[in-house]
Amino acid sequence: MQPQHRVNLLDTDFKYLKIKSNLKKARFSHGQWRVALVCGLFLISVVTFSMAHLLQRQPVQTRVKIPLPLLSSSPAPKLEPVDAWRTVGIKSGDNLAKLLSPFGIDARQIHQIMSLGKPVRALRDLQAGAHLRVRLDEQGVLQALAYDLSEQQNLQLERTEDGFKAYTRAKNYQTRLAFAQAQIHNSLFAAGRQAGLNDTMIMQLASIFAWDIDFALDIREGDGFSVLYKAIYHEGEKVRSGEIVAAEFVNRGKTYRALRFTDDRDRSRYYTPQGRSVRKAFLRSPVRFTRISSRFSSGRYHPVLHRFRAHKGVDYAARRGTPVRAAGDGRITYRARKGGYGNTVIIQHGHRYTTLYAHLSRFNRKARHGQRIKQGQIIGYVGSSGLATGPHLHYEFRVNGRHHDPLRVKLPKVAPLARRFKKTFDTQSNHLLARLDFFKRNTVALADLYSPSGN
Ligand SMILES: [Zn+2]
Repeated sequence: MQPQHRVNLLDTDFKYLKIKSNLKKARFSHGQWRVALVCGLFLISVVTFSMAHLLQRQPVQTRVKIPLPLLSSSPAPKLEPVDAWRTVGIKSGDNLAKLLSPFGIDARQIHQIMSLGKPVRALRDLQAGAHLRVRLDEQGVLQALAYDLSEQQNLQLERTEDGFKAYTRAKNYQTRLAFAQAQIHNSLFAAGRQAGLNDTMIMQLASIFAWDIDFALDIREGDGFSVLYKAIYHEGEKVRSGEIVAAEFVNRGKTYRALRFTDDRDRSRYYTPQGRSVRKAFLRSPVRFTRISSRFSSGRYHPVLHRFRAHKGVDYAARRGTPVRAAGDGRITYRARKGGYGNTVIIQHGHRYTTLYAHLSRFNRKARHGQRIKQGQIIGYVGSSGLATGPHLHYEFRVNGRHHDPLRVKLPKVAPLARRFKKTFDTQSNHLLARLDFFKRNTVALADLYSPSGN
């Protein structure tokens, strides 16, 4: 594993750049460290200001923090928050007195607060996982207190002449764009987490490219991704991560790009830079499998029947009970036992296509015979009913009644972006792609600076 550097460019539009460098090979004297550091800080300020320019927004303030392992010999300086607000995380069983006593706030002040009655009722039953923010003056006297009532509302307390006044306030959220990138060494999840993405976002990334890349089979060492995503801030603090707005995935040397576009009916989809939907009419694989246990072939030895016969589908080995999903929108035309196939579902997609799912342990009760079904909807669960040696999904794909190899068949595409959105989409996507490229370029430039050995 190579060390990763994180450069925080707070209060700009971008949370951070991730810098990857090969420090193991670099050996510096103290002087060189200092020169590299000064150069680095200079470059970061240049990058920050050019970013601000690019975004046509001035950064209010720039704090730069370069943590380990670059400065592992001397600890990175701790930056205290500029304002006097302090944040306390609430755990289950906490109450106001317990949380405020470390700040020297005594029972008398707590009583003053609680005597406000109804407006501060929420403070009697603090929600674990929420945050309490307190502001003290130089003498350590409580001046203000804030508590999240909901995602949208805040309870605020302020000191007055004779105690406190309480009021609720709409939260003021800001949305910023954040950038993350990583190279995959072990798994997509490991790389994603290292790049600062949470699991939901990694799933989001995988699902954007799921029609082109099989994340169970196709990922190789050296694959990588970069993403621009929304980060929601409240008063300078990141509250959560939002949607991915632009993403690039390099898989086996091939680059895939996707951009999020929201139409006038508030529907958001991902498109290629050319405006084609990243979605296909069919999922590449209808189940999250561990391996392909048997491929499409014209003749193979059947382990149960003990004779050679064609295998007209693909077998995906997966744990019993793994959900099996409809590969595309369609209608269920068969849902019953079917000889050696065991519990089987057949879905008709338009006039030309049918898909078949066999050896299911059970059906999904909500996906009945004759019912219309959406792509990705669960139709049943992996099992070994019928003639099967172990739990797996046998999957067939037919075009005009003829069997095709599900792993190779050219999948029909979904309708592209409507013509009337094309101009708006082009403007937005050019802008986003320029940002993505900008960050990729500058991340590389920084990485070069930190590894003078040339790696
Ligand atoms: Zn099979």
